[in-house]
Amino acid sequence: MKNFHCQKCGERLFFENTLCLSCSSALGFLPDFTELAVIEPAGDQEFSTLAKGAEDRLYRKCANYQLENACNWMVPADETDGFCCACRLNRIIPDLSGLENRKLWVKMEAAKRRLIYGLLRLELPIVPKSVDLQNGLAFEFLADQPTTMEQPDQVARILTGHADGVITINLAEADDAVREKTRMNMGEAYRTLLGHFRHESAHYYWDRLVRNDPGIDQVRAIFGDERSNYQLALQNYYQTGAPIGWESSFVTPYAASHPWEDWAETWAHYLHIMATLETASAAGLQIRNRAQNRVLASPFGRNFSEIREDWHALRFVVNSLNRSMGMADPYPFILSDAITEKLSFIHHWIRKDREVAQLVG
Ligand SMILES: [Zn+2]
Ligand SMILES: [Zn+2]
Ligand SMILES: [Zn+2]
Repeated sequence: MKNFHCQKCGERLFFENTLCLSCSSALGFLPDFTELAVIEPAGDQEFSTLAKGAEDRLYRKCANYQLENACNWMVPADETDGFCCACRLNRIIPDLSGLENRKLWVKMEAAKRRLIYGLLRLELPIVPKSVDLQNGLAFEFLADQPTTMEQPDQVARILTGHADGVITINLAEADDAVREKTRMNMGEAYRTLLGHFRHESAHYYWDRLVRNDPGIDQVRAIFGDERSNYQLALQNYYQTGAPIGWESSFVTPYAASHPWEDWAETWAHYLHIMATLETASAAGLQIRNRAQNRVLASPFGRNFSEIREDWHALRFVVNSLNRSMGMADPYPFILSDAITEKLSFIHHWIRKDREVAQLVG
């Protein structure tokens, strides 16, 4: 992510801020500039901003900012939708009458905005289903429901997943204790809310960018043939786990279950890597590696071999930083050559670089 600074006083800002903690200026994120900006009232619920290049534009607060304080994004004043480009993807949100649901929903929205930021930076199409029923994207955030009033502990489980452009996420995944328990039960090295969003977005973009693409055989050559029986593959995976030696070809054990899941896990890792490298490079991070100083550069528009080198250096440092704080490694994964090849493929595929087969093959 970019490093954001207050345009009034120069203080550093987090992506989630609604106020500058130093000079109290109100803030709003401008999706059309991917910039967090000081906003100033300009009449009739409209705001001007101090963001460079956007000085002559007017915005409104997203309805979820204005009314719910669950968003900090702005809507260009010439757009008719009351919601920002991230919130207008919501089709169902949880019942907000309870305090607990509201807390979890706010976390859900924060993770979703990080996903959308990454997609904007990669210039991927983001079209709401309300605009394009066939190809659009929608989110449903749902809580497990008791099946009967008599037995409140009998619940209909909401499965996190993707189908036909609808990404469903179980609200309980926003509860740290529940999610961590699930992570341990499933023997996973990493489970986060943002990780779910990134993973499920991969299934959506498979439908958008791969399914009907004439180059799909290139994808099959790298990830395997997705026409193999998906239900059976998952059933096998949950019964017997990943095959011995999965590490050499797959980024996670789950990626070994079926080509679709391999695509989704690898895609999620690609988004993790691009986001974290952008944050590190925007902060001006340098890493000493084998007596050389490596200045990290923004990963956008770079060759994948350079991204790989930077990530290799940064991965070690972020894990070491966390260990210094007594916390677990944020990136507990090893990228083999085969996995790197898959990441490189996704990098080129997103950039519509049709030389992709030669580049990685
Ligand atoms: Zn300030
Ligand atoms: Zn919003
Ligand atoms: Zn999946």
